[in-house]
Amino acid sequence: MSFESLGLRTELLRAVSEKGYSSPSPIQQQAIPYILEGRDIMGGAQTGTGKTAGFTLPLLQRLMSSASTKKSRAIRALVLTPTRELAAQVAESVDTYGKHLPLKSTVIFGGVSINPQIKKIRDGVDILVATPGRLLDHVSQKTIDLSQVEILVLDEADRMLDMGFIRDIRKVLALLPEKKQTLLFSATFSNEIKTLSNSLLNSPALVEVAQRNTASERVSQVVHPVDKKRKRELLSFLIGSENWQQVLVFTRTKHVANRLTEQLNTDGISAAAIHGNKSQGARTKALSEFKSGKTRVLVATDIAARGIDINQLPHVVNFELPNVAEDYVHRIGRTGRAGNEGEAMSLVCVDELKLLKDIERLIKREIPKVVFDDYKPDPSIKPEPIQNGRGQQQNSRKQSANKNSRRTAAKPRSNNQNRSYRGAEAAR
Ligand code: AMP
Repeated sequence: MSFESLGLRTELLRAVSEKGYSSPSPIQQQAIPYILEGRDIMGGAQTGTGKTAGFTLPLLQRLMSSASTKKSRAIRALVLTPTRELAAQVAESVDTYGKHLPLKSTVIFGGVSINPQIKKIRDGVDILVATPGRLLDHVSQKTIDLSQVEILVLDEADRMLDMGFIRDIRKVLALLPEKKQTLLFSATFSNEIKTLSNSLLNSPALVEVAQRNTASERVSQVVHPVDKKRKRELLSFLIGSENWQQVLVFTRTKHVANRLTEQLNTDGISAAAIHGNKSQGARTKALSEFKSGKTRVLVATDIAARGIDINQLPHVVNFELPNVAEDYVHRIGRTGRAGNEGEAMSLVCVDELKLLKDIERLIKREIPKVVFDDYKPDPSIKPEPIQNGRGQQQNSRKQSANKNSRRTAAKPRSNNQNRSYRGAEAAR
């Protein structure tokens, strides 16, 4: 199948061919015709499937064909994403695919000054990509009008719910016109997602590709058992001996991310960290230097890494296993994207054997173990509890949320869940 046969207009076909795509991915083949017809969509697709172009291309086409008759520009399409990084990436896709069209777009997210965003919106945009928290900040400052929205996209809806954005999303929905086209994308279909979609979607077409957890089939995985104290040494050894030039490394906490980054740099391996405590500028810089090859290693926590889109990322290392087994699948989904082969390895110490079991149960397979002679685990070391398990992390979320409450109390928003998410970002 070709992009031409989907009935896309020439400006979009030109942009797609300039991007180098020869044929639409399965989610694009399925979703684009429905969206062009004006149908609501319930899309089951993870990142890496091409879903962004799958909704952006037909969205642009629909906006062109229902060109506004009003003199001033109004926001006609709203895309909500869970994270700043994903918002930036979706906005980049909107720019790329829409570059031959006269439509204007912008992106708004927290962590950066609100004033330039206000100015851009005031100048007029057709498409707005936003994270829910910052969008509501604009709403409360009355710097945004959502009453003309024709198309709403909820991207990675499951992740938005996981992050406690449901109340924010409901507040945003209340500001949108009743009659609109809604496209909801989610990697998983939990009961919560079903409830949301039932209340939001009107006879949606169900489009689904790549069953959940397929990354675990596409990506080759290995576990290297090693003592906790020797993980950093083994990582440097792997990067050096295999001569990896681009590797994404996951840690559970921002503290370990920072320390590991420093140690790798000391070892002469250029590394940068990306997590919720870094300013937006630092995160963007770290990501672009990693993409351009200036930095060999990007060390990330789970929230920060969500939605990172790097073409053909060859290696992902779990320096520490995640507390939540599903995060393992998200992590390894960063490699082997859009059909490329990828390799994911996990450095696992005795403390993490239970987490490993949970992961193997989830992905329904045993991950092969390879022990390096020089890094054999010491059998006399007894497992210790993992310091920042879920319960403890949630406590620290609450504490951070309390610390933040004076600041947030001044705002009209009274969303405890969202506050606790912000606390979680700070805690990681
Ligand atoms: P996404 O799932 O939207 O994050 O896209 C994953 C990656 O696939 C991105 O790097 C896209 O640029 C790329 N991509 C999207 N559509 C296609 C296509 N039709 N052919 C090849 N690559 C694509």
